[in-house]
Amino acid sequence: MASKFVYFFGNGKAEGRGDQKQLLGGKGAGLAEMTNIGLPVPGGFTITTEACKHYYDNGKQWPASLEKEVRANLSKLEKACRKKLGDANDPLLVSVRSGSAVSMPGMMETVLNLGLNDRSVEGLAKATGNARFAWDSYRRFIQMYSTVVVGLPKDVLEEKLHHLKEKAGAATDADLSPDHWRELCGEFKAFFEAQTGRPFPQDPWAQLEGAVNAVFGSWMADKAVTYRRVERIHGLPGTAVNICQMVFGNMGEDSGTGVCFTRNPSTGENEFYGDLLMNAQGEDVVAGIRTPLQLVDLAKTHPEVYEQLCGVRAMLETHYKDMQDLEFTVERGKLYMLQCRSGKRSPAASFRIAVEQASKPVITKVEAARLVKKKYLSKRYADAASKPIINREAAILRIKPVDIDRLFHPVIDPNYDAKSLSTKQLGIGINAVPGAASGQIVFTAPTAEQWHSEGKKVILVRRETSPEDVGGMHAAEGILTATGGKTSHAAVVARGWGKCCVVGLGAMRIDEKNRTMSLNGHTLSEGDYLTLDGAEGAVYEGELPLVTPQLPEEYHTLMKWCDEIRRLRVRTNADTPYDAENAIRMGAEGIGLCRTEHMFFDTEDRRRAIQEMIVADALETRQAALAKLLPFQRQDFIGIFEAMDGRPVTIRLVDPPLHEFVPHDEAKQRDLAENLGVPYEKIRDRVEQLHETNPMLGHRGCRLCITYPEILDMQVRAIIEAAVEVRRRGVKVAPEIMIPLCIDAKELKILTDRTRLVADEIIEGSAMKLSYLVGTMIETPRAALTADKVAEVSDFFSFGTNDLTQTVMSLSRDDAGRFLPDYVDQNKAAIFKDDPFQTLDLEGVGMLMSMAIEKGRSTKRELKIGICGEHGGDGPSVRFCHAAGMDYVSCSPYRVPIARLAAAQAVIEGGKGAPRTSASVKTRAAAAKSSVRPAKRATTAKATPKPVRSKSMPLAAVNARAKTSAKSKARARAK
Ligand code: ADP
Ligand code: MG
Ligand code: MG
Repeated sequence: MASKFVYFFGNGKAEGRGDQKQLLGGKGAGLAEMTNIGLPVPGGFTITTEACKHYYDNGKQWPASLEKEVRANLSKLEKACRKKLGDANDPLLVSVRSGSAVSMPGMMETVLNLGLNDRSVEGLAKATGNARFAWDSYRRFIQMYSTVVVGLPKDVLEEKLHHLKEKAGAATDADLSPDHWRELCGEFKAFFEAQTGRPFPQDPWAQLEGAVNAVFGSWMADKAVTYRRVERIHGLPGTAVNICQMVFGNMGEDSGTGVCFTRNPSTGENEFYGDLLMNAQGEDVVAGIRTPLQLVDLAKTHPEVYEQLCGVRAMLETHYKDMQDLEFTVERGKLYMLQCRSGKRSPAASFRIAVEQASKPVITKVEAARLVKKKYLSKRYADAASKPIINREAAILRIKPVDIDRLFHPVIDPNYDAKSLSTKQLGIGINAVPGAASGQIVFTAPTAEQWHSEGKKVILVRRETSPEDVGGMHAAEGILTATGGKTSHAAVVARGWGKCCVVGLGAMRIDEKNRTMSLNGHTLSEGDYLTLDGAEGAVYEGELPLVTPQLPEEYHTLMKWCDEIRRLRVRTNADTPYDAENAIRMGAEGIGLCRTEHMFFDTEDRRRAIQEMIVADALETRQAALAKLLPFQRQDFIGIFEAMDGRPVTIRLVDPPLHEFVPHDEAKQRDLAENLGVPYEKIRDRVEQLHETNPMLGHRGCRLCITYPEILDMQVRAIIEAAVEVRRRGVKVAPEIMIPLCIDAKELKILTDRTRLVADEIIEGSAMKLSYLVGTMIETPRAALTADKVAEVSDFFSFGTNDLTQTVMSLSRDDAGRFLPDYVDQNKAAIFKDDPFQTLDLEGVGMLMSMAIEKGRSTKRELKIGICGEHGGDGPSVRFCHAAGMDYVSCSPYRVPIARLAAAQAVIEGGKGAPRTSASVKTRAAAAKSSVRPAKRATTAKATPKPVRSKSMPLAAVNARAKTSAKSKARARAK
């Protein structure tokens, strides 16, 4: 049998179903579902998205069987309505409506009142006894058909209407008489004929065919194609076409058309929210020609209509288990549903709706009983609606990482006039960190710090940023760079602070000398105001009003539910007590990565001390310089340990190549020479000597401590002395010393031995009890490949997935911006689905990680394993970490809630991910018997039973699970 291209709905039964969005489009699936559950939906049929695909695959030809199917369904519809399309007496009219699987607001076309012609308009006038209505409907149809189907200019027709009103002295459409509308129809038809060279089509079938093709055509219209590209909507076959019996909201004051949400989409409050325009049709509501009536007022003016709507609201929200966005029409007091879909909502509303749906009923029992009595709600739905309609798991699955992200950042005041906004836009870069910021432009980090200290708000504008800029970056409200991508230095650092950041604005030219920047023909100077929108990547001239959304109560409730479910611990990457405190507020349970080198840039004193250490050519001078650094570092660690109050703190020993710490231009080198009292040439030569062709693979990480063990000595001393000091003050500490970039077990042994030697001596001397861990980052392929040996000398592994991704893929993160975008662009090479620096490459990097986990735990069952790369705050990557049996993920403070959410979602999706039932006790007992895993563990900060992971899952299973998680997630979202 040839495939079926048309699905009928009407008389309480539909051939399609609500879950057939791919095939019927969102609108068609919604119409089918509403019909099936007994809601008043005008009859009609849906031409599938597959038919649209066929149309484009075959030179814009309908599938052979389509015409027959459409004609058969049209007859069926005519029978059901007892009217005929285009009939001279009481004709059937239809709307022809677009609708793909993903809603594309305003992108595609709809034609109303199809079937009207010179004869049937008279029939309609007679049958309804309303000539005004009939001729108004006809002129709407001619207008829509001319513009939408044939593509004639909209404004000419609007102008004719406007002209007529002026001539008739009519203030509104309502003041026009039937003869006026008839006259306008004549003018429209004449315009049509003059423009196209043929008369306005009178044959209803020809009209229908034209409209269907126009809807197909709107799928590939420029604006629709662009919208799909920008919104990253891929892989849809096309649009469906819904042909639907017309009901009329323009039949008088007991008729109208409206749109509503089952809950308030801005606040999430459980109230009926929407607008209704009496005596109007279709898009009149949105067009804003008259002020619509609010639903609350409708309760007073048209109580029966309002009650019908209340019944529908309770029913649809209960049925779909989510807030719905509805379109409806009232014809002479009777309600008809024309569309339903999951409603778009603000981030705050997402939380409130999810939490309230999981904890409170949709309507009260009393309200339910009243609607049942009036027969506007069935008993079955009344019972369901007077209880919570979803459970906590469903509430958690509902929330998306962007909902959290957008909750914490200021945004440009949504009430700000959209037109002025677009005139102020100077350009669009890459949206690195969400949030909006405005301030005065500065071009250097020191100016940023200076102006900030004077109380000014600044935006730091640079070609790119480097570690030396960190102070100025911190002082700025927002950061804008001309180069770089989402994982550039600027983006990574700004993300750590949750600071608005736009990067990669290639069109921007900076003239540092004259302190100006130019962008798309505009030139701005230092001190001029600039506003950045980090969520969109947009840059605006001037100081735009910003608002910070309030954290809703329900956010905390939902995050608490996540914490109760998840197995993975969530830590943060934080280098300062400020970051640490911030992260704790975001729910961090420890620090997974504290980068010590950032501390060296903090003040001039520190910078000088580290530079002195680096240029020293003898052990003694180096040790003397290190001795100056020791108190700084100790003080920093004291601050961090105190802020973390007994939570584990992983501190990484110095990591970057030393040349990053020294000045590269002559002036600064001379400055340094003078300060240190050494000849300039000596500094110059030393800097030259430090130069490496390939510094990322060069003298860095633990290699530095193999050559300069005194650096390790100083850092370990600072850590342990700080820990002893804090312990002495009565605060618990759990230091974990982490050695970066190891490639070999023997290498690591040298360093861990030395670490323990220094640490134990200090602890012994302090006469205090203090335990600490010494472990390594797994960020080179060799460390991962030899993980069984590495584990022998390591208490823990922490995957440094930034470097690991670079080395496994041989991709330089800093240079990949030149070509990687093409690799991930689904319209270009589409080699990868995601940027591997943002979402773990499961096939390659993930495979190696799973292997390293398996090998590591084969040597040491109790090996603690975490991740501290950028991926630790990425949803899909966190799901992988969960499935791979890691103990924790660590990410920047602002991503901590996202990681908590993803960790909980991973458990819910994976089902068996977290054995928390009695079965888990058994697993635990068995695990305890068979392993050397100690009962007490530093990370077990919570009282909730911490399930022991099953022995590392085999790789295939891990990957399969991560994949199904992603899929079931997609499914859950689609619902
Ligand atoms: P969009 O996708 O732009 O919302 P629709 O196909 O939903 O387009 O049509 C827009 C509006 O036209 C609807 O909200 C409704 O008011 C009106 N409309 C569409 N079909 C009908 C119909 N069969 N009867 C009455 N009004 C209709
Ligand atoms: Mg609609
Ligand atoms: Mg690294």
